[in-house]
Amino acid sequence: MTQETFDVTIIGAGAVGTALARELTRYQLDVLVLEASDDVAAGATRANSGIVHGGYAAKAGTRKAEFCRPGNRMFPRLAAELDFPYRATGSVVLCFSEGDEAALERLYANGVSNGVDDLELCSRDETLRRIPRLNPAEVHGGLFCAGAGIVSPYEYAIAMMENAIVNGARLRLESPVTALSHIGERIALEAGGREYSTRILVNAAGVGAEGVAALAGSPPFRMKPRKGQYILLRRGTAEGLDTVVFQPPNENGKGILVTPTTWGNLMLGPDAQEIQDQSDTGTDPESLARIIRTARRSVKDFDVKQAIRVFSGTRPAADRGDFIIEWSETIPGMLHMAGIESPGLTASPALALEAVRLLGEAGLSLRKRPDFQPLRRAPTRPAPLGPPAQAAKRAQLPEGDPERIVCRCEQVSEATVRDALERGIPLRSTDGVKRRTRAGMGACQGAFCGPRVRKLVADFGGIDADNVLGPSRNRDRIKADLDATRCLLDGGNTHDS
Ligand SMILES: Cc1cc2nc3c(=O)[nH]c(=O)nc-3n(C[C@H](O)[C@H](O)[C@H](O)COP(=O)(O)OP(=O)(O)OC[C@H]3O[C@@H](n4cnc5c(N)ncnc54)[C@H](O)[C@@H]3O)c2cc1C
Repeated sequence: MTQETFDVTIIGAGAVGTALARELTRYQLDVLVLEASDDVAAGATRANSGIVHGGYAAKAGTRKAEFCRPGNRMFPRLAAELDFPYRATGSVVLCFSEGDEAALERLYANGVSNGVDDLELCSRDETLRRIPRLNPAEVHGGLFCAGAGIVSPYEYAIAMMENAIVNGARLRLESPVTALSHIGERIALEAGGREYSTRILVNAAGVGAEGVAALAGSPPFRMKPRKGQYILLRRGTAEGLDTVVFQPPNENGKGILVTPTTWGNLMLGPDAQEIQDQSDTGTDPESLARIIRTARRSVKDFDVKQAIRVFSGTRPAADRGDFIIEWSETIPGMLHMAGIESPGLTASPALALEAVRLLGEAGLSLRKRPDFQPLRRAPTRPAPLGPPAQAAKRAQLPEGDPERIVCRCEQVSEATVRDALERGIPLRSTDGVKRRTRAGMGACQGAFCGPRVRKLVADFGGIDADNVLGPSRNRDRIKADLDATRCLLDGGNTHDS
């Protein structure tokens, strides 16, 4: 088998791996990203809160604190260059009683130690004045952070990878790394039936990082994955709430939040459950009902009947409780970037800079490429939602007409889907198209558009429609969980505004 040779190989195309790939393409290096799944952003980067954290929460002196604020500061420019959905909304941590005030003051002081200079402690009246949708019966005060924001996390990683590819990086999907060894000055790898040789190897495999480390001997850390469940309400439900709303932190982390998404949905969650099975992406009605009840303490006037999806994400937490950025002791040239739990999405662009610094320090030649292209070609996005009748009419247009509506709920045209297919990352699933175009994100969750998208993916890739992967979560299962959750809540009377 011929061996392909690279300067740097990154295992894992999540927020960390894709941000690093893009950063490395600024230099004259051959860069490869190996991803186990059929798409980028397949792990924690796919299912999280999408908050660009302000930087006050991570304990001063930790690596999380070191990289959160600098990462946060990079987002406006990155969003401008790479055209992914991001908005500087600010955030608030609420307190519900006098007893909580001390917790907010501690957060404030921690934030100041972390160099966060846009924090403000506000009274009950001021907090309610700023965010009228908050629950007046519960809110006692708030800690505002002006620099926090929201991002579409998978669109961020997709944008990073697309731009890295334009700048010369290679991406191999469906390529789980299964073996690695050290040979002289280089590392040999096996992934997806191919062999590779690389000078530097970066382990950015999320919850899989321990498994990758174990390929090189006894792993220096253990993963302790924690699942978090979410409820997503339909588009438009975030109207009047343009701030991320946290509750006072507890032993499980930042607590349940209520947040707008970049697309105008309201999102509730996450809880925190330690799990043994890393592939457990399930949800359960009891947890979902608990999340909804808890979220109502912050924002009372949401209608659970507007919920369209439930899902969970798994935090790639490690046993050290902090980001692990260190060289392997068993394989020279292998850098672990592991335990990247929250605020890892926020920190990821700053972590990429740190990794480049470490690689340079280790002797990797960092000569700038004069032709680095920082701008990503803007993706074709669905137009703002118009009258449903018009969309239904356009849905009747023949296949091949760019104006044909493929997804009625989100009014996604065929031109938008075709553009997603042509952007450099090979797509083999309807979910891949969904994450890039929103086809399948609406109320019917792909019941209408699924077959249309499947056909377009198959035709574009020259593959059989049966080989196009379907939704990662079963629609009936989501509906059953939602129905059972509604039943658990107030005997089905879920709208108590
Ligand atoms: C519930 C929840 C809420 C969160 N909220 C926030 C938030 O609001 N803000 C924030 O900043 N952070 C948040 N985070 C944290 C953030 O999502 C993570 O820090 C970040 O996504 C980690 O990125 P990563 O690239 O390290 O890992 P991942 O995104 O998990 O990527 C790792 C990739 O490696 C691949 N892989 C695994 N094993 C192999 C192998 N052997 N070979 C090849 N590929 C492999 C996986 O398929 C995966 O695609 C949250 C996380 C969760 C779960």
